[in-house]
Amino acid sequence: MARHTSFRIGGPAAVLLVPDHLEQVVAVLQWLRDQTIPYFILGQGTNVLVSDQGVDAVVVSTARGLRQLEVAGDRVRAGSGVLLTRVARRAERLGLTGMEFAVSIPGTLGGALVMNAGAHGASMVDVVSSVLVWDPVGGVRRIKGTEAEFQYRQSRFMKQPWIALEADLILSPGDPAEIGDKMAQYMAHRKRTQPVGEPNAGSVFKNPYPDYAGRLIEAIGAKGWRAGDAQVSPVHANFIVNHGLARAHDVLTLMRRIRCEVYGRTGIVLRPEVRWIGPGEGGATATWENLWYAEGEGLRAPCG
Ligand SMILES: Cc1cc2nc3c(=O)[nH]c(=O)nc-3n(C[C@H](O)[C@H](O)[C@H](O)COP(=O)(O)OP(=O)(O)OC[C@H]3O[C@@H](n4cnc5c(N)ncnc54)[C@H](O)[C@@H]3O)c2cc1C
Repeated sequence: MARHTSFRIGGPAAVLLVPDHLEQVVAVLQWLRDQTIPYFILGQGTNVLVSDQGVDAVVVSTARGLRQLEVAGDRVRAGSGVLLTRVARRAERLGLTGMEFAVSIPGTLGGALVMNAGAHGASMVDVVSSVLVWDPVGGVRRIKGTEAEFQYRQSRFMKQPWIALEADLILSPGDPAEIGDKMAQYMAHRKRTQPVGEPNAGSVFKNPYPDYAGRLIEAIGAKGWRAGDAQVSPVHANFIVNHGLARAHDVLTLMRRIRCEVYGRTGIVLRPEVRWIGPGEGGATATWENLWYAEGEGLRAPCG
């Protein structure tokens, strides 16, 4: 999985399936459900930390089969495997405003729906009108954006075994030049404030409202901390970068140390934003349930 994640970390998957089109994605999911084979959906792998032991499950990639992108007026219908930046750039070219925030967020539309990805004060909740989902119980159906219960870096997709197949977004007419300028500003800001060029998975912890994880981590002097080839970025304290041969174990070591020290100094428990994929710490077998819910597995208690 190291070849399929932006962290460049992770042992092997039992099987990696890359279906060709929507019907095939649905057929594969139904078959896996019927056979009770554990599975995991992978977008672009930019928000996951995969266990060094790998994933004892079938990984289903949306990258090839869910790439359709259509625009009619101010409405966009896009497959969940479409890159978010592609949606943002298409909107810019067509003079549609609303997706500027997404221009520098890596990953797919599906991953962005699950995470309610956002930046610069906007997030997916602001543009999603409906989502076509596959539900292991009810099959394929369309839900309203509100039913996805988007909140800061979370959604109902984290609580329910739903797979996002495509989404309808509503944008507004705007001036392409202004949209482009805003996007350029956002890109420049990111280049100034985040480590670019070294493998990472974006923000490791969620911001504990009203504070910022990066500020709290910097305050404990963690910038530059190292475990193996993993390092707390000297550029942005809420990023952990992989200098080459980092293992998931190294990243978890840093996350634990950060969490414990921040808790000790402030009483604040940082919650992981990056999603842990793999067996539980106690060696539990991976099932879709614990793959799905194991957000920050082993990181529930602030220390230990
Ligand atoms: C350099 C960098 C900067 C980043 N900056 C930001 C930022 O500014 N704001 C932000 O919000 N995030 C940011 N991220 C995190 C990440 O890019 C987003 O969370 C992105 O939306 C994840 O998309 P993905 O396709 O890579 O998802 P993945 O990492 O592949 O998956 C993430 C989770 O979503 C699930 N998933 C993926 N697709 C589907 C689907 N179709 N249906 C159901 N579940 C699915 C996966 O199972 C997994 O649990 C950054 C990451 C990096 C590396």
